[in-house]
Amino acid sequence: MNQPHRIAVIPGDGIGQEVMPEGLRVLRAAAERHGIALQLTEIPWASCDWYLQTGQMMPDDWKAQLAGMDALYFGAVGWPATVPDHVSLWGSLLKFRREFDQYVNLRPVRLFDGVPCPLAGRRPGDIDFLVVRENTEGEYTNLGGVMFAGTERELVIQESVFSRHGTDRVLKHAFELAMQRPRRHLTVATKSNGIAISMPWWDTRAREMHARYPEVSVDFQHIDILSARFVLQPDRFDVVVASNLFGDILSDLGPACTGTIGLAPSANLNPDRRFPSLFEPVHGSAPDIFGRQIANPVAMIWSGALMLDFLGHRAAHDDIVRAIEQVLATGPRTPDLGGSASTSEMGEAIAQRVGMGA
Ligand code: ATP
Ligand code: MG
Repeated sequence: MNQPHRIAVIPGDGIGQEVMPEGLRVLRAAAERHGIALQLTEIPWASCDWYLQTGQMMPDDWKAQLAGMDALYFGAVGWPATVPDHVSLWGSLLKFRREFDQYVNLRPVRLFDGVPCPLAGRRPGDIDFLVVRENTEGEYTNLGGVMFAGTERELVIQESVFSRHGTDRVLKHAFELAMQRPRRHLTVATKSNGIAISMPWWDTRAREMHARYPEVSVDFQHIDILSARFVLQPDRFDVVVASNLFGDILSDLGPACTGTIGLAPSANLNPDRRFPSLFEPVHGSAPDIFGRQIANPVAMIWSGALMLDFLGHRAAHDDIVRAIEQVLATGPRTPDLGGSASTSEMGEAIAQRVGMGA
């Protein structure tokens, strides 16, 4: 075996604590089958329990403790009954994203057999694409202000920031991903007909990057019609790249088109590998179902597959995704999918398939 991958395991709050054991169960099965050495370090902080004991979400040296890790495997954070969301979120997850320069937010969107699709007539295979969101700049800034507040002349300005460095690096990552997929197609989300300065510039950056990836076919779509096509023609998409705001919207709309929120995984990547990347389900801590062992573990498990892929183990990733596919099709399934299985029954079934070489 090679040097072990150092992974920080951060269950967090609510159902994060229930789906994490299933994620680890499947990771261990895949690691064993593929001879991958993992060094897992469980982290009790970045949780509201920790906050209630210590008055902070994380210890002061959190960055030093995590900086040597290869990846962070993260459950969910937030327990609004005792800790306001802005405290829990800004005190943990958003710090990771920013301090570890996780500039790519990646969300695979796929429709599986056995999962009811909210879009009429869609079959598995019709929906299988990646949303790549710029995760550090763009429309989400604190630049601007309110003038003449409280008067008839009240005026609000909110700036966007697009740097060449920040834009090129996310575009590059999206082209690289498109190159690895059979269709090699990239859709660039834009709004150059309405946002007259930044978006035409974004399109120019994308065209320039395209010159380095001539094998990839590219189309530019305005965000409004692009959103409509997610619903009406999802089979058109392969890889979609978007600015922070547009990507935020698309990366919720995409998974919404494929059934339950319990399936959708995500990766917050620092592709330069200067800092650890973070892998987490799209869903939150779901206080409404916590403690009943009914949370769907697939989003957590699939996020683990993305982590193995990022660490260089594509075959292990593919095994896990195949196992997910099979268990979604045949059961056992959790109640959000119309079944009656518990979180761990579903996790065990997936782990077993991975162990058998799904
Ligand atoms: P966030 O914490 O990201 O702001 P949220 O608190 O708005 O999200 P979630 O915690 O994701 O929302 O929960 C939204 C709804 O989806 C809840 O009704 C929750 O029970 C359900 N849900 C979330 N995750 C799962 C899961 N893994 N399995 C089944 N149901 C889930
Ligand atoms: Mg929440």
